[in-house]
Amino acid sequence: MDREGLLRSLAARVSDQRVLEAFATVPRELFVLPSMAAAAYEDAPLRIGPGQTISQPAVVARMCELLELKPTDRVLDVGTGSGYHAAILSRLAGRVWGIELDEQLALRAARTLLRAGIENVSVVSGDGAAGLPELAPFDAINVAATATGQVPPALEEQLAPGGRLVAPVATADGESLVLVRRLVDGLRREALEAVRFVALR
Ligand code: SAH
Repeated sequence: MDREGLLRSLAARVSDQRVLEAFATVPRELFVLPSMAAAAYEDAPLRIGPGQTISQPAVVARMCELLELKPTDRVLDVGTGSGYHAAILSRLAGRVWGIELDEQLALRAARTLLRAGIENVSVVSGDGAAGLPELAPFDAINVAATATGQVPPALEEQLAPGGRLVAPVATADGESLVLVRRLVDGLRREALEAVRFVALR
């Protein structure tokens, strides 16, 4: 599949026009390993290192839709990996901070984002489960690695009023996407469809 093919396939499932436009402007081939460039526009996760994958475009699109991003939003991206998901978020929001545990990967993501001409994303290496309290609160938080039992409390605490968080969470019932919103009367959590991500370490 090429970029046009991927866009057609996403358009059949994604109704948010801004999300589709973001996919049209980010070159995914820059974010995969050079040996995998030919597969860059498959709607599939691809390996980017040990225990690490670049997420499936359809899943990235779904998570972006759930976050209902506005052009001025400040966003935290946990498990930045290749930087691709952060790049899509950056087209929909004002400013993105990415946090990635693997230092080499964090450096590579920062370089790739610059090569892609993206200047509103900063990537740091560290434990994303702790978030970035010094930069909180965030209007939206995107988590791309599976937490066990519950969304890490530190991340929920860093949500601004009206803020949205989406994260894969594993419980005894399996692994699913959880959407959290900070409303006036507190947090509201909603478990959505089943997903598969690498584990949050
Ligand atoms: N969003 C990425 C996909 C990431 S795969 C992309 O678009 O390419 C999940 C990533 O989470 C891996 O890179 C892994 O190293 C990272 N990770 C796992 N545990 C983490 C933690 N505690 N803090 C930050 N990153 C973590």
